[in-house]
Amino acid sequence: PIEVVIRNYAAGSLVKRLAFNRGKKFSKPLIEFYYKCDQLNDPIINESHAVLLKLVKEEDIKKIKKISLKINNLMIKYFKKINLMLVDFKLEFGRFNGEVVLGDEFSPDGCRLWDKTTGKKMDKDRFREELGGVLEAYCEVAERLGIVFDH
Ligand code: UDP
Repeated sequence: PIEVVIRNYAAGSLVKRLAFNRGKKFSKPLIEFYYKCDQLNDPIINESHAVLLKLVKEEDIKKIKKISLKINNLMIKYFKKINLMLVDFKLEFGRFNGEVVLGDEFSPDGCRLWDKTTGKKMDKDRFREELGGVLEAYCEVAERLGIVFDH
């Protein structure tokens, strides 16, 4: 029950919590863990909390971080090709046959994508911030990716 958040630029809850300027580029990806618990409002936790709460084994944290950073590298390049900045995203993991595995989808619902030229938000923030054009933005991401889309 952990949400792993990887951030390449400061945005969202991070700029509310800490004194980072929105859009600040990090010299290396920032990894955060959030405890999925509705009663507690999904609080941010550190690795020690996660282990002591028995949410994850210490050795699995290493694997989770390694997989997350690999995905980040792949997805940064993937979106760069279509002129989008991968600002941040969330991943969830599970266990299959004893192995830690990714158990998630990747879509504009779970990441932040900004147009590199205009800075336009092409993700769920359009909905969260009532900017309008949610469907249009999602379709544009799909079209830029070459995914055939009938809308
Ligand atoms: N995120 C998500 N599900 C959640 C919380 C966050 O997919 O329950 C994603 C969110 O879309 C963003 C990243 O994780 O790409 C970081 O979210 P943040 O902590 O900034 O929270 P938010 O501002 O989205 O509430």
